[in-house]
Amino acid sequence: MSEACIITVAITGAVPRKEDNPAVPVTPPEQIESTHEAYEAGASLVHIHVRNEDQSPGSDPEKFAEIQEGVMKHCPGMIIQFSTGGRGRELSQRGAMLGLQPDMASLATGSVNFPTSIYENPPDFVDQLASTMLQYDIKPEIEIFDVAMLYNAASLVRRNLLATPVHVQFVLGIPNALPARRSLLEFLISELHDVLPDATWTAAGVARHQYTVNEWCLELGGHCRTGLEDNIKYDRDRLASSNAELVTKIVEVAGEFGRRPATPQEARQILGLRMAA
Ligand code: MG
Repeated sequence: MSEACIITVAITGAVPRKEDNPAVPVTPPEQIESTHEAYEAGASLVHIHVRNEDQSPGSDPEKFAEIQEGVMKHCPGMIIQFSTGGRGRELSQRGAMLGLQPDMASLATGSVNFPTSIYENPPDFVDQLASTMLQYDIKPEIEIFDVAMLYNAASLVRRNLLATPVHVQFVLGIPNALPARRSLLEFLISELHDVLPDATWTAAGVARHQYTVNEWCLELGGHCRTGLEDNIKYDRDRLASSNAELVTKIVEVAGEFGRRPATPQEARQILGLRMAA
């Protein structure tokens, strides 16, 4: 009996532009269409950023609402996760769309250096975002960009700002942050089991590390994340033609690891989310 794997598709992100890969969806209609293709390919969770007209990172709650409505209509049951990530956005804008009550939202539990900037998540800001998510019954995906963030998540639980079971994502391969090393991932999983025993986990590998990390997750019992946000290429020699193509790459190999893509209903059960209406 194979074990279900939640495949997250991170469709857009803050960085890649159409000039880098024309398949990057940047308008809400493009984002809904790209999500639908990925859903048909086997993704059960979509991670969403919005963009401004010039493709810079956006924060317009109306765009989040438009994508949320389109995904709910065309991708029944799919888990919708909004990004509260920082690139190009003021702290005050980063939780501005949480009133839309997506199923999930990302929550980084500390600050870290990115390639050319600081990803700022001051302690009081983390507490405030966590508290808002609790208030709206939004399950956070705890983003672990550096090791301390794992223990900070356990601290949120102790302080009743984060409900259990917790879901975490280890982000590997961003220059200046955690490297994509299997030994490190194994250490992080071991520590997670120690400090948050009932937590579920996934990992994201950035750029050329994406598929390598997907295989580690399939083998080590985690869930998977792919998508053009993290990596615009299919392999070393060509650009990915769509988000769906990257999802398919995982689906095709999952069986070799005794895994299969989770249905949206299974994904909701695994994460303890309410079933979609
Ligand atoms: Mg993101």
